[in-house]
Amino acid sequence: MVKVAIGAGHGFYTKGKRSPNDEREWFFNKQVVEYAIKHLRDYDGIDVLRVDDRTGKTDVPLQERTDNANSWGADIYISCHHNANTGEWGTWTGTETYTYEGNWNEAEKLAGIVHGKVIGAYGLANRGLKKANFHVLRETKMPAILIEGGFMDSEIDIKKLRDDSVLEKVGQAIAEGVAEYFGLKKREKSTSDIHRLIVDGKQVIALKDDDNLLNEVKSYLGKAKEIKIQKV
Ligand SMILES: [Zn+2]
Repeated sequence: MVKVAIGAGHGFYTKGKRSPNDEREWFFNKQVVEYAIKHLRDYDGIDVLRVDDRTGKTDVPLQERTDNANSWGADIYISCHHNANTGEWGTWTGTETYTYEGNWNEAEKLAGIVHGKVIGAYGLANRGLKKANFHVLRETKMPAILIEGGFMDSEIDIKKLRDDSVLEKVGQAIAEGVAEYFGLKKREKSTSDIHRLIVDGKQVIALKDDDNLLNEVKSYLGKAKEIKIQKV
């Protein structure tokens, strides 16, 4: 079992850490984390520990985050952030990924793979791999990376951060990067994963993909008297 610790930087109420329009960095970060976890579940043999507070109410202290990852015995640590420059709107742009100062072959390998995939997902400038003395990179006992996805105070980047489909692609890119780093294969969906959707007593569709199934359910909400989901 591969153990992945992942977290969204900050909390909803953390001072500063917001776009010039008062959009919270944690909110952008947590969407990436949620999509990453969702897509990590497509692979066999991955266990996930989320180190931030999923409600956003608390900005979990950095020491607590790294202590939890260390005592859980995480194999890697991924921290998701979005950048800011002046706090006023500007045209700076791009994605960068950090590892701890010095030479850390495994962390650099992980950063290289994941960064290569997330720059494609954001579709912003590639600011490259960087080094920093950040707490979560320094105090973790496993290879750790920190992704600064794009600038919240960039007129260019904010368009991507506000786009749910971009953030899902980023989460998926992180999951694919982790899978590639560990050499994991995607789980094959079996027929036992097929569900039929029965609306007012009549089967309307049978689907393998959970998201598509839930979208179908939504399309009948408010119209149907009874919606049933049944395993095939
Ligand atoms: Zn941050």
